[in-house]
Amino acid sequence: MAAQTEESDTAREQTKAEQDVDQVRQRAARDQQRLDSGAVSSPKDLENLQKEIVSLAKRQGDLEDIVLEVMERRESAQERAAELTERVGAVQGKIDDATARRVAAFEEIDGEAATVTKEREVVSGAVPAELLKLYDKLRQQQGGIGAAKLYARSCQGCRQELAITELNEIRKAASDTVVRCENCGRILVRTSESGL
Ligand SMILES: [Zn+2]
Repeated sequence: MAAQTEESDTAREQTKAEQDVDQVRQRAARDQQRLDSGAVSSPKDLENLQKEIVSLAKRQGDLEDIVLEVMERRESAQERAAELTERVGAVQGKIDDATARRVAAFEEIDGEAATVTKEREVVSGAVPAELLKLYDKLRQQQGGIGAAKLYARSCQGCRQELAITELNEIRKAASDTVVRCENCGRILVRTSESGL
């Protein structure tokens, strides 16, 4: 915005400087006309008129230099404004892109959450109420994980290897017995990879 203001300021400055040049040029033209018309006859007046024409020519030259200098400044202000406008456009493009990706990510997460919630409802409906209660309690106590896989004799919840006696107990337990980790208390899920 500052660059655009500078551009319009120098545009106004240029118009003003060009008007100054015009005024001097018109006055010099009038003087020249009077000189050429022969209406001025006194040598003193003629001399003064000629002097004024010379001085006006010099003044015109000085004013034209000012016009050129203002034009140069205006040009660089235009370039700067154009460059900054382009950069604003590029940044806005990045913002738009990031916003679109965020919206898409939210939609995906919402969809995933809805699917997972539905899946959980189906699974929890098949779990005995008391076991579900225990699971929910453990989940709250253990940072969101109430049950863990028993993998290669280790609890995948706390990453601790189970003691031999504990493993022997689990080996002897019926497949529908709820077994828990002696270390973290989580429900242990037995699989063929449990190392039993
Ligand atoms: Zn554990």
